[in-house]
Amino acid sequence: MPARIIDGRALAAALNAETAHRIEAGRFHPGLAVVLVGDDPASAIYVRNKDRAARAVGIEARTIRLPADTSETALLARIAALNADPVIDGILVQLPLPPQIRPQAVIEAIDPAKDVDGLSPVNAGRLFMGRPFLVPCTPLGVMKLLAAADVSVSGARALVIGRSNLVGRPLAALLTAADATVTVAHSRTRDLAAECRRAEILVAAAGRPELVRGDWIASEAVVIDVGIHRQKGGGLVGDVAFAEALPVAASITPVPGGVGPMTTACLLENTLTAALARRGHPGKG
Ligand code: NAD
Repeated sequence: MPARIIDGRALAAALNAETAHRIEAGRFHPGLAVVLVGDDPASAIYVRNKDRAARAVGIEARTIRLPADTSETALLARIAALNADPVIDGILVQLPLPPQIRPQAVIEAIDPAKDVDGLSPVNAGRLFMGRPFLVPCTPLGVMKLLAAADVSVSGARALVIGRSNLVGRPLAALLTAADATVTVAHSRTRDLAAECRRAEILVAAAGRPELVRGDWIASEAVVIDVGIHRQKGGGLVGDVAFAEALPVAASITPVPGGVGPMTTACLLENTLTAALARRGHPGKG
C-alpha cells in the first residue's frame, strides 16, 4: 500500500484559520516587520508570500526592503528601531544576508520577545532547557505535522538529518522533549543509509536534493521532508526521493505542500504568541 500523504497545505489552512479567529477574538492586529536586504529573487518570493499570508489572518505586515550594500551598522540600527517600536510584535530578518553582514550579529540584536523566527540565543536556550517560548517555525511545523498524522512520537526512534540552528538542532530538541529517542545525522555521519533504516520517524533537512533513497527507508516509517530544491525544469523536489519512498513508507510529506506551508503558518502563530505575551497575556512567555 502506498504511503499516506501528510497534507501540509490542509493543516496550514486549518492553523491559519485558528490564528485568524484568535486575532479577531483578541480585537487587535499584531504587527510583523519582515526585513529583506538585497534582491535575491528566492528571498523576495518568500517575503512576498509571508506578507500576503500575514495580512490574510489579520496581522499588520510591514516589509522593509534595504539595498544589497546596506552596512551591518545600518541594519542593526533598523533592528534597534523595530525593537523599540510599540506597534511591532514580531521581527523577521530574511536570510541569507549579503556577505558584509554577520547573520549571528543580526539575530542576536533582535529583542527575544519579538524574535518570531525563534533563532535568538534566549529562545534557543529556552527551548533546550525545556521552557520554550518562540520556537523556530520549521521544526514547530514538523511537530504539528506529526501530531496531525497521529504519529506516536513517545519512545519512537527518530532520525534528524541536519544540525542547523534553523531546523535540525531545534527539531532534535523538540523530538527529545516529546520523548523520542533521537539521532542527529550530519555531513560527517559515517553510514547515513544505515541510520535511516533504523528510523521509525525520519526527518530529512540536509539541503541535498533526493539524498534519501527508497531503499534507505524502513517499511512503515514516517518520513518528513524539509528539503526544497528547484529543478532545472522548474519543478520542486525535496531531500527524499519521493517516488521511491512512496511504496515503502507508512506516511510522507510531499514537496511542495508538506513542510513549507506549515513553516509560514507557524510564523503567523508565533507572531500572535509574541503579541499576546507583549500584552501581558498569561501564555508561554
Ligand atoms: P543548512 O545547509 O544550514 O544545514 C544542512 C545540514 O545538513 C547541515 O547540518 C549538514 O551537516 C547536513 N548535511 C549536509 N549534507 C549532508 C549529507 N550528505 N548527509 C547528511 N547530512 C548532511 O540547511 P537548513 O537551513 O537546515 O535547511 C535544510 C533544507 O531545508 C534546505 O533544503 C532548505 O531549503 C530547507 N528548508 C525548508 C524550509 C521549509 O519551510 N520547507 C525551511 C527551512 C529550510
